[in-house]
Amino acid sequence: MTTRTQLDSFYQRILIQWGKAHGLRPRCELTCRNLHDSFGAIRVRLMIWAPSGWQLLLEMIEGDIQYHFPPIPLSDDQPKPGGQPLYHAHGTSGPSLITPDEHGQSFHLTIPLERQGRQIGTLTIDFPERPQTEDQVFLGLATLLAAEVDSGLLSEDVQHEHDSRKTAEKELEISQQETLQLQAQLQALHDISFKLWRATSSDDLLFTAVDEAKKHLHVDRMAIFLFREHNRMQGTYGTDLHGRTVNESYFECEIPDLWFTNMTQDRTKSEYLAFENNTPLYHDLKQVGYGWSGFISLWDGDTPIGWIACDNLLTGMPLRSYHQQILKQFGFIVSQHLVRRQAEEKLTLLNKELERRVSERTAELERVNRKLKTMSRLDPLTSVYNRRVFDERFHEEWRRAERHQLPLSLLIVDVDHFKAYNDSYGHAAGDQCLKMIANTLAGLEKRAGALFARYGGEEFVLLLPGQDCAAARFAAKRAIKAIQKLQLPRTDLNPEQFGIVTVSIGGSTLVPTLDSSPETLFKQADVALYEAKSCGRNQYMAYASS
Ligand code: GH3
Ligand code: MG
Ligand code: MG
Repeated sequence: MTTRTQLDSFYQRILIQWGKAHGLRPRCELTCRNLHDSFGAIRVRLMIWAPSGWQLLLEMIEGDIQYHFPPIPLSDDQPKPGGQPLYHAHGTSGPSLITPDEHGQSFHLTIPLERQGRQIGTLTIDFPERPQTEDQVFLGLATLLAAEVDSGLLSEDVQHEHDSRKTAEKELEISQQETLQLQAQLQALHDISFKLWRATSSDDLLFTAVDEAKKHLHVDRMAIFLFREHNRMQGTYGTDLHGRTVNESYFECEIPDLWFTNMTQDRTKSEYLAFENNTPLYHDLKQVGYGWSGFISLWDGDTPIGWIACDNLLTGMPLRSYHQQILKQFGFIVSQHLVRRQAEEKLTLLNKELERRVSERTAELERVNRKLKTMSRLDPLTSVYNRRVFDERFHEEWRRAERHQLPLSLLIVDVDHFKAYNDSYGHAAGDQCLKMIANTLAGLEKRAGALFARYGGEEFVLLLPGQDCAAARFAAKRAIKAIQKLQLPRTDLNPEQFGIVTVSIGGSTLVPTLDSSPETLFKQADVALYEAKSCGRNQYMAYASS
């Protein structure tokens, strides 16, 4: 039996507890608990009437309380208080408010909450058995709750409004910050692009890309991998566990069959990015932490050429909304610079190869030319200088002698009776004989400027710049002796003709004057030669002006 005292203490407790509590929620919850403790209430529902219909503010089932703010609309399957209040608060007596449920297992109380003659809500309470009290004793509670709900909802609305404004302000602040960060990131992207443009090689470019991205794009670790032939890929530059940029070109493997591989490599999709949040992060194929990781595909036109991997392993900085957009642009920039740089390097290599081949060819040509030039200066049979060289040098030396007024001597050497030699021994033997004579005479004269040459047929010339008649005579005599010494036998001539191959030499010496010329010198030597022949051959004759 619920006594008056019990009721009084119920209300007193509620009023004291409400006095200490702040806000609608604790007061409603306290009320429920007290209903549960004092009257064994097994279910309490507090519903609010809103223009859109009934809404549930609080529900307690067997001591478990759910409070909803803002209140939630009652779903279709939930019992509704009905359009009309079930009880009019002004009545002091009337039908019983507490009604048994249809099975008689519990008792149900529905009390409208009214403010200024208007129903603002409904309180329903289920008791396991009929409380031994007059139904009306709960009307006081309804009045108290109605006042509390009315003002509480209002202040919670205000608070809610205040909170939403605060949230909106915070969101605006964050979005402004993100805008600023995005701007800074775009600037960083521009700076990085400039640095990549100035990179000195692909290698330098890849290092710069990884190093700069980590410094400016809010990425902890980054690595760039490039595809190679036969479905393989190779590392370039990456990041160690201290955040340092390191060379990882030693790393090579088959392109792995991972979720992002297919996503970033599918030509038909041309997808540039694959990001995943709260995912395991790896280093050297071992899991080292958790965070976000991103893969950015690198393309040459519509051909994938590699990818960039990045994550937040070291600082755990969150994935921002601008990350993906910025990193997508970054991937595009790296692709562009890399493709351009690689094409340039290929071209440079080709050019170098071309230059090498050209210089090889040039060297070969020069060698052939030198050979040709030498050959064109040598007599093919005897390998001594030919007539062309003699003619050039003869005129040169003439001019020099003329300038310095120095003597120039010329000897003409002619093999004696060589026609007969040929006739007797044959042309080939004649050739051999000429070679031996040429070799012997070429080795005789060592003085600087002296030139020995085959003039034609069986005639040779010895040009002696700076040497006078005496020196010429000495050289001629030495030549005649040297040939004699060769002792090339011949029996085709009369015995008085020595029995060996001999030469006759005519010589002349001139200090060039205005009325003389190289031809003068040559003619004089020739005259002298004729003299030597006439006088019996195998001798030297100097030109003597008559
Ligand atoms: P001389 O003593 O008066 O000079 O009589 P020679 O027979 O030597 O003079 P000639 O001018 O009548 O004959 C020169 C000969 O030299 C004619 C030619 O058969 C020979 N001869 C010229 N050039 C070569 C050559 O390259 N090889 C050979 N085997 N013989 C040559
Ligand atoms: Mg001759
Ligand atoms: Mg002769």
